[in-house]
Amino acid sequence: MELRSDSDGFLITGKVPVLIPEQVKQFTQTALGARTTRELDPHLTHNALVRGTASGILAIDIGGDKLISAPYEIREGELGPKQAPVVLQSEGGRGYVEHLEKLAGDARRDRLRVGISFAGPTEGTRLMGAPNLPALFDDLLDRYDLDLANLFPSVALANDAEAGIMAASIEAIKRDRTTQHIIYIINGSGLGGAVLTRSRIVACEPGHIEANPRLNPFNTTKQCGLLGRTHVCLEGIAASKAGIEDTWLRERGESRSGRQIARLLWNDNDLFARNLYDNSALVTVHAIAGLANAFQIPFDQTYIVAHGGIFEVPSYRERVRLILKEAGISPLGSLFTRDFSANACLDGAAVAAVLKDLCWHESHPDPAHVSYAASWTNLIG
Ligand SMILES: [Zn+2]
Repeated sequence: MELRSDSDGFLITGKVPVLIPEQVKQFTQTALGARTTRELDPHLTHNALVRGTASGILAIDIGGDKLISAPYEIREGELGPKQAPVVLQSEGGRGYVEHLEKLAGDARRDRLRVGISFAGPTEGTRLMGAPNLPALFDDLLDRYDLDLANLFPSVALANDAEAGIMAASIEAIKRDRTTQHIIYIINGSGLGGAVLTRSRIVACEPGHIEANPRLNPFNTTKQCGLLGRTHVCLEGIAASKAGIEDTWLRERGESRSGRQIARLLWNDNDLFARNLYDNSALVTVHAIAGLANAFQIPFDQTYIVAHGGIFEVPSYRERVRLILKEAGISPLGSLFTRDFSANACLDGAAVAAVLKDLCWHESHPDPAHVSYAASWTNLIG
């Protein structure tokens, strides 16, 4: 697909819709299944990363369709792989465990701190499920009881949204020192998200909120399915894969990838494709506004960070910006992960590896405690 400028597309020609207040109000912490997964003060983290150097890090990204690993180094606030990442691809995660065993051997030999981002639910160092990687799940269950601490000598595990928001927070602070909150929205195979607010990372499920019928113009009847929920959820309408590709298949009777549908929009100005993406952008903005609503996050202290393939569809980001503006929402700034990182999950895994050795919320109940910064300097200074 030929990508021209983001503001040059088709989506932005239509009338800008307004938000549906009832839908925004449906986003509560309970409805979002909100879970605090980590304590993280982004300012202290950023300061420490700028001040010090950390090496001996092995970052691993276990994604839905590939496993990527690279040694990392953090130098004067810049975080990046020391060499080109190694990529492994297989059906359902077959052979991943053998590869992880090899990486664990390297980590043991070279005393590396390991950080892992995983595309699925996690708890501590355990995988709680692997919907797209059944072979990995079975092998890990067999050999390591699903606990990566049984495999690696020193490991921090984060789900991909958590890892992404850790990388994003450092970038956002770099761009604007007054950033206090991050709203991280993912639109790819599903519609997901996380927030970083008051020094906590909170994992959320914005995609599984019940959709207001006005956001369901294609009359999707697909049931949510998460935890047995039977309502039609936002993800089933607006996610690049679970929403747009599935709706296309149902309505057009042909299977098309998101990339192909986007090409039809771009090359042929296909009206159905445009309506799908227009509506998706509107749902994405509801999810952003809803996350802010659930956590009472003021936008004037907030960076919005977008992640996922749909944000590469020409003019989709611009459409999101216009709808935000129409709704009177003006954040400190907004970012697309691809603008600052080739792989935000891998970057976040590296940050998780460094943060692991702090355990600062246990020793310092007050997140703003100055000795946190001191311990950081000791660690990586
Ligand atoms: Zn759902």
